[in-house]
Amino acid sequence: HVKEHGGDGMAVFQPSMLEQAMNLMQLEIDLHRALDNNEFFLVYQPIMSLHDRKLTGFEALVRWNHPDRGIVGPSEFIPVSESTGQIHQVGRWVLAEACRALAAWRKLQPSMRGVVMHVNLSARQLSQPGLVEQVAAVLRETGLPARCLKLEVTETMLMENPDYANLVLRRLKEIGVRLCIDDFGTGYSSLSYLQQFPIDTLKVDQSFVARMCREPGHFKIVQAVVALAHSLGLDVVAEGVEEEEQRIMLSELSCEGGQGYLFSRPVPGEDVPGLFGPKGH
Ligand code: C2E
Ligand code: MG
Ligand code: MG
Ligand code: MG
Repeated sequence: HVKEHGGDGMAVFQPSMLEQAMNLMQLEIDLHRALDNNEFFLVYQPIMSLHDRKLTGFEALVRWNHPDRGIVGPSEFIPVSESTGQIHQVGRWVLAEACRALAAWRKLQPSMRGVVMHVNLSARQLSQPGLVEQVAAVLRETGLPARCLKLEVTETMLMENPDYANLVLRRLKEIGVRLCIDDFGTGYSSLSYLQQFPIDTLKVDQSFVARMCREPGHFKIVQAVVALAHSLGLDVVAEGVEEEEQRIMLSELSCEGGQGYLFSRPVPGEDVPGLFGPKGH
């Protein structure tokens, strides 16, 4: 009988599953080594004020310089490090490195004083006991003022456990850190909750920005998100701005900020002072 009905439902084990499991195990081992050997590095993508194209912030984006595979992007290892728990160490390293970098640039250049560093948090970091103390310790150790750090969380992360998330976000606000909802529009968040979280900024997901000039439906979504954010007293950053036409449209909607290849790709830290210093701009 098993053989007769051995179609899709019976395929409980396939060689590809073993392969996948082995790949995951290897990745876990590699991540362990990466943490010991300093194989991670950060790139920084500028966030610009849309009406005058002035630099207002950077988003820190992690990369992995793998000895055999070359540069590996975060979507390939952040989810794995979330499931193994290694995200706690990766996340702490990212936070400290990003804060250290902006603190150093601020010393070099007075023009960096108003600039804010965005750092992505993962779901597991948000629910980690001691996160607030960790953030406070990193700020103390690096000397970066709390107002210069903005932590990015997603709607989905907030809605997993809204009451606990709200508590953590409130404590982060108390120490002076700013907060941002990333990839807005792609998750499932309840508007009544949104209004309760102590958020400063909404980032409109790049999937809406990408099509806003050609598809009226997407334009209307961006328009509605900007209006919603403003009515809640939040400012808005558009992700994935690639064309001047998008910048103009977003600017006409009074969207404050933009991030994307139109302005700059993410750049290595050592290039930042030259590119965005007094001589660069
Ligand atoms: P995200 O936070 O939404 O970051 C924006 C992503 O869009 C980045 O991809 C960035 O390189 C890309 N991007 C920027 N401008 C443009 C554009 O004009 N067009 C297009 N098509 N893409 C653009 P990246 O660096 O591969 O990061 C992917 C995701 O990985 C991030 O999405 C974030 O969720 C996560 N991530 C990155 N670094 C970290 C980290 O340190 N910790 C955690 N937990 N997650 C991270
Ligand atoms: Mg982000
Ligand atoms: Mg994003
Ligand atoms: Mg995104």
